Amino acid sequence: MDDYDVAGSRLVSPEAGAQDAEERGLRPRTLEEYVGQEKVKENLRVYLEAARLRAEPMDHILLYGPPGLGKTTLAGIVAQEMGVQIRITSGPAIEKPGDLAALLTNLQEGDVLFIDEIHRLSRQVEEVLYPALEDFALDIMIGKGPSAQSIRINLPRFTLIGATTRAGQLTGPLRDRFGVLLKLELYSPDELARIVRRSAGILGQPCTDEGALELARCSRGTPRVANRLLKRVRDFAVVLGDGSIDKKTALLALKRMDIDALGLDELDRSLLRAVIELYGGGPVGLDTLAAALGEEAVTLEDVCEPYLMQMGFLTRTPRGRCVTRLAYRHLGMAPPPEAQPAETGQQSLF
Ligand code: ADP
Repeated sequence: MDDYDVAGSRLVSPEAGAQDAEERGLRPRTLEEYVGQEKVKENLRVYLEAARLRAEPMDHILLYGPPGLGKTTLAGIVAQEMGVQIRITSGPAIEKPGDLAALLTNLQEGDVLFIDEIHRLSRQVEEVLYPALEDFALDIMIGKGPSAQSIRINLPRFTLIGATTRAGQLTGPLRDRFGVLLKLELYSPDELARIVRRSAGILGQPCTDEGALELARCSRGTPRVANRLLKRVRDFAVVLGDGSIDKKTALLALKRMDIDALGLDELDRSLLRAVIELYGGGPVGLDTLAAALGEEAVTLEDVCEPYLMQMGFLTRTPRGRCVTRLAYRHLGMAPPPEAQPAETGQQSLF
């Protein structure tokens, strides 16, 4: 089953992959179209309106939250609402200070610069960014040695929108330069069902409310996963059903794709089962677990664990990973008395 071999191509992985190439067409373009995240939208509306009234660019914004929740989409919406262009890049793509200088000097007045994975900017690049954010200026060194001179180039006033999945990894000075900090939350099944219905409409795919809700429940609180499931279930609807995604087709397709009622796939379940069957429920070290499953440790850490922990199935302790009682029950096993209760969980969401 190739789908589960590579993290990026797992159906339920929140990271963008080759299979998400059509994502652009599904992206909401206005705040009205953007489903959920009510608090974020409310605040953003006020900030946008204020900036418009003052005829000034928006303050710099930091968007924080797991992959696939709509950070890039929101940045596009800010640009659209302000009537300016957006330039999209990412932390790792800006290798040298010169790369950043080239990007900044090409901006027009008011433009949005979107830097995804901003926590991965190098220190040297960050140093160049500080005066750009604060004074809209670039300090450039000309020459070397004692005759070196620093000259200042003025930049157009722009809005930086940084996105990160790991706000904790951002340096203090960089974080302090953002005037607006917005945290995106996982979506509820109802919101995801609205996203599925909206995307189905754009794709011209008939989909019932119940069918949409079944897909929503298995989407790990993540619009990207919801859209991906929709596209795959379409194939089942056409080949095995009458072309429409109803509850029956949705459930059948999810079963055929080995995705269970809470959105866990075979790799998630193998991980939980391995901790239970090979290590008595834990604690077990990540590397040991990865070796037992024949997977890369980073795959387990970045792709499986965040959701399993959010669901309260897995906990991290200083001595290693432990499964909780909930995990035993989800797998249809009786938890031993010493099994941990779930510490945190988003069970209520689902
Ligand atoms: P991120 O940048 O956080 O990884 P994206 O902005 O690329 O996420 O969103 C992934 C996909 O999910 C987009 O193509 C978009 O269609 C969809 N999406 C995200 N948020 C929403 C939303 N609030 N409403 C509707 N669709 C959304």
